[in-house]
Amino acid sequence: MTEIRTEPVEAEGFQDLKSFRDARRPGSFHIAEDGEDIYFWSFCPCGCGAQSSIPIGRNIKPDESPSWNWNGDEAKPTLEPSINHVGHWHGWLRDGIWSSC
Ligand SMILES: [Zn+2]
Repeated sequence: MTEIRTEPVEAEGFQDLKSFRDARRPGSFHIAEDGEDIYFWSFCPCGCGAQSSIPIGRNIKPDESPSWNWNGDEAKPTLEPSINHVGHWHGWLRDGIWSSC
């Protein structure tokens, strides 16, 4: 399988999980907070429809691995480090834009 590269894709935020799932927009996201735990749901920016949920922290990287440091911006989020759908798509989410490596 070869990696897909995409043009930059704008990450559209959804306030609730159901509308996020129903819309299925490439690169869209939903941030779910459950007490201390925060999860970043997103659809793969390439448009394949793959959905993922990853643990994030607000301005910290949680102890669990893998996890990501979120800058706390709910409209134009930045996540560190990069996001790797192994063998498929690898890139960054910065200021609300997904960019291939
Ligand atoms: Zn994809």
